[in-house]
Amino acid sequence: MKPIVAIVGRPNVGKSTLFNRIAKKRVSIVDDMPGVTRDRLYWDAEWLNHEFTMIDTGGIEIDSTDHILTQIRYQANLAIDEADVILFVTDGKAGVTFADEEIASILRHAKKPVILAVNKMDSIKDAHEIYEFYNLGLGEPTPISAANLLNLGDLLDAIVAAF
Ligand code: GDP
Ligand code: MG
Repeated sequence: MKPIVAIVGRPNVGKSTLFNRIAKKRVSIVDDMPGVTRDRLYWDAEWLNHEFTMIDTGGIEIDSTDHILTQIRYQANLAIDEADVILFVTDGKAGVTFADEEIASILRHAKKPVILAVNKMDSIKDAHEIYEFYNLGLGEPTPISAANLLNLGDLLDAIVAAF
């Protein structure tokens, strides 16, 4: 079986944008469970001869009336259960938020590798925004711009090195 990479992060950080840049084709449909739609979540991807399967946990919604933190905790734990490598996406324009700290506190206990991406670093003048993300305690953050396709090669290198 191919390694599974799960994308985790609070809403609006750019998970879907990044996912669409990396993923190639839909591979499987898992039966819906009550209150959980996993349809269209598993996609094939490839980088330098490494094949893997991706999941965007942001596409998984439990009861939509649930609090954002409930969603985030659920998605982080799902990634911990299912993934071989967890890709945690944050927003460099917004900076570190309470929800990011909540996700980080869950992922720090995961016995799986976590790659920390700081998205929306669209130009070199945004570079200093990276430093506060070290405080999440998940190692070196990788600055990217999913929109402008910046540094995605370095991010993919870090992902496949963790397999
Ligand atoms: P998700 O909720 O985490 O899946 O986030 P989306 O992929 O839906 O993106 C949320 C918003 O951020 C959209 O308006 C995107 O166009 C925008 N966005 C995504 N990636 C980037 C980026 O690299 N730079 C900037 N400036 N905006 C981005
Ligand atoms: Mg999304």
